[in-house]
Amino acid sequence: MKFVDEATIRVEAGDGGNGVVSFRREKYIPKGGPDGGDGGDGGNVFLVADTNLNTLVDYKFTKFYQAGRGQNGMSADCTGAKGEDIFLKVPVGTRVTDKETGEVLGDLRTEGAILRVAKGGFHGFGNTHFKSSTNRAPRQKTNGTPGERRILELELLLVADVGLLGLPNAGKSTFIRSVSAARPKVADYPFTTLVPNLGVVKTGEGESFVIADVPGLIEGAAQGAGLGHRFLRHLERCRVLLHLVDALPVDGSDPVANAQVIEKELKEYAHDLYEKPRWLVLNKVDLLEGGEEEGQALVARIAAGLESKPERTFLISALQKQHTKELTYALQQLVDEVKAAEQEQQAQAQGAAADNFVWTEGEQNVRDPVNGAKLSAEGADEDDFFDDDDLGVEIVYQK
Ligand code: GDP
Ligand code: MG
Repeated sequence: MKFVDEATIRVEAGDGGNGVVSFRREKYIPKGGPDGGDGGDGGNVFLVADTNLNTLVDYKFTKFYQAGRGQNGMSADCTGAKGEDIFLKVPVGTRVTDKETGEVLGDLRTEGAILRVAKGGFHGFGNTHFKSSTNRAPRQKTNGTPGERRILELELLLVADVGLLGLPNAGKSTFIRSVSAARPKVADYPFTTLVPNLGVVKTGEGESFVIADVPGLIEGAAQGAGLGHRFLRHLERCRVLLHLVDALPVDGSDPVANAQVIEKELKEYAHDLYEKPRWLVLNKVDLLEGGEEEGQALVARIAAGLESKPERTFLISALQKQHTKELTYALQQLVDEVKAAEQEQQAQAQGAAADNFVWTEGEQNVRDPVNGAKLSAEGADEDDFFDDDDLGVEIVYQK
């Protein structure tokens, strides 16, 4: 299931440093030749996809990012230092558009993908560069070119980690509201009335998962009745399903039968969905006269009535936030496990390719993802790796 979160930022690459005009002036060397050094290239701005991020919220606060300017050249043939590159972390799934041209610059779909969004200016030449047999004392130099500037529109197409299942009134919306604070904007559905409800659940420092409520899951959904089918399809992207059951439905219906309705829908829809990790959650336990004891008995009865036994069961009150914390911590653990397994699978599928990519900030140590050759740290030019097109924008690495 995809949701959109957006931010607009301004990025400026560094200008190239200027070359200088200078001549050697030393005792006993009356006519020293030119010794004006070249400037350094301006720093680039890169975006890097990082699985640890879930939202673009940081970019709503800081909106301007500037890479370092190349230093001017100096006398004694000293070249100016290169401007510092900057690397902005964005969540995996971020799409980048140039706001002024409307051009999509790239889609950072995998962990570690890097996109250059503003190319640093080229350095100017010092007068040493212009020395020739006919001109031994050149006074020419060139200035560095300006770095690229852009306004970027960042859009996050988020995949929900946890999908909620349950009949209307089970308490899905209440649950999302009680466990999540932040809420990314708008779903990319053409519907105006039925919008998936989304929450980012933070369970610790830098730890969070995305939970989605899918409205419109109704009886007959698996046969394509109403909107259910479409939404069920999107649940396939979730990593974990959470099945919420109302402990005391106002219509007097039987919670066991209600749970079976959902299981039947899943089973008829597609096996993929049915095979997903799915936990059973009995909600509204606060309404039970017999309290948790009655809840335990009821949840056991529901589990026994299901064909596929849930791995885990929970008793909660979404409204009164009873046991909701334990549930979210457990969910975080499960989501992390599933994610880790996915990553391992991906890594195995790609074999050694994943190992070929090394980039440490400051010292640039870039390897070709295809043949593993070291590209920019020693000798090789950065442009061997980066496409030197006019735009200065390209996916540098995408698994
Ligand atoms: P949804 O249709 O699954 O999204 O269900 P809602 O979240 O809209 O909840 C339906 C009704 O149940 C609302 O009136 C909620 O206030 C109520 N409700 C939800 N969770 C609880 C709970 O834990 N305890 C009680 N007593 N009421 C709840
Ligand atoms: Mg609801």
